[in-house]
Amino acid sequence: MNKKHFETIAIRDQWERSENKEHSVPLYLTSGFVFDDAEEMRASFAEEKQRDLYSRYSNPNTNEFISKMCKLEGAEAGFAFASGMAAVYSTFAALLSSGDHIVSARSVFGATHGLFTKYFPKWNIETSYFGVDDVETVESLIQPNTKFIYCETPTNPGVDVLDMEYLSKIAKKHNILFIVDNCFATPYLQNPIKFGADLVIHSATKLIDGQGRVLGGVTVGSEELIREVYLFSRLTGPSMSPFNAWILSKSLETLAVRADKQCDNALKMAQFLESHPKVKWVKYPFLKSHPQYEVAIKQMRLGGTIVCFEVEGGVEGGKTFFDNIKLCSLSANLGDSRTIVTHPASTTHAKLSDEDKEAVGIFPGTVRCSLGLEHIEDVIEDIEQALAKI
Ligand SMILES: *Cc1c(COP(=O)(O)O)cnc(C)c1O
Repeated sequence: MNKKHFETIAIRDQWERSENKEHSVPLYLTSGFVFDDAEEMRASFAEEKQRDLYSRYSNPNTNEFISKMCKLEGAEAGFAFASGMAAVYSTFAALLSSGDHIVSARSVFGATHGLFTKYFPKWNIETSYFGVDDVETVESLIQPNTKFIYCETPTNPGVDVLDMEYLSKIAKKHNILFIVDNCFATPYLQNPIKFGADLVIHSATKLIDGQGRVLGGVTVGSEELIREVYLFSRLTGPSMSPFNAWILSKSLETLAVRADKQCDNALKMAQFLESHPKVKWVKYPFLKSHPQYEVAIKQMRLGGTIVCFEVEGGVEGGKTFFDNIKLCSLSANLGDSRTIVTHPASTTHAKLSDEDKEAVGIFPGTVRCSLGLEHIEDVIEDIEQALAKI
């Protein structure tokens, strides 16, 4: 069969119907599964027989969600988690040993940065960082004990773009893994495996759910690596709930239309902000002024749903802007159908030192705007009147 388009796979990839002939995938709220006899029970636990045993290991709904995510990312296998951070942590913990070393982009999600700085050193795992401006230094950071290169692209919140093809070549040359957090792009906008990634991690909480309802995470990649992640996770229990898997599988059915519209809204917002006198700078991967525009258009279908900008007037300017927002939500989430404005310096990245914040492009007046599905003219009007108050 020819490979179908993204939208078709996202909607039509579904397990075989039960004898009830349901059209839409049913929800399997069950913690366990029964066996016909002792032999079946033994063979199932010995993995001689592939089937669901217990929902910490697998469940029809998580299987369905994972299967779709694998097809959409071009991966062999995957495992679904209760949250994006459960996916990040479990993937790392499954693959790392005491004494290992990570080479990571400096600009990573606040909680991931917290793992690198607060917890991994306890287990003798150190991390070295490279910036978007000095990607050439990556190779010089690799040590004999380096296990993998890690990055997010586009980054949170600065929407910097990293060249995955380049990073994967360096990883291959040194026989180490290249792992990408693809949360900001989703499989619709970009497929890191095509550019050489070994594992792809998602927070499904964001644009994959897209309606701000559930948390979820997923890691996909080769059978061999996912097997390690699975074995660690079935012991430690970070698995996604069947209910969340059911919701997220439904969400994938509408991901393409939502992302098309939200990316279009984001581009329009970025263009509006670019010429605004109260805005110091604006970053959006598909604006020609973006420092990594060429890389962005090479690896992304559209520019994403997040625009990052800096208002005039520093802390005070930022405060005035946020206090005058009327329509958009002041919230820490992103990828929602509702447009959200966030102040990374005091929220998601508050734990970083001022120096670390600046190094990843977060200033006192930096605003992260996650474009939703409202009419763009209404959203621009809200942002415009709040900027006017500065
Ligand atoms: C939100 C986010 C995470 C964590 O996801 P949760 O579902 O909130 O645990 C990880 N990486 C990135 C890039 C994120 O934006």
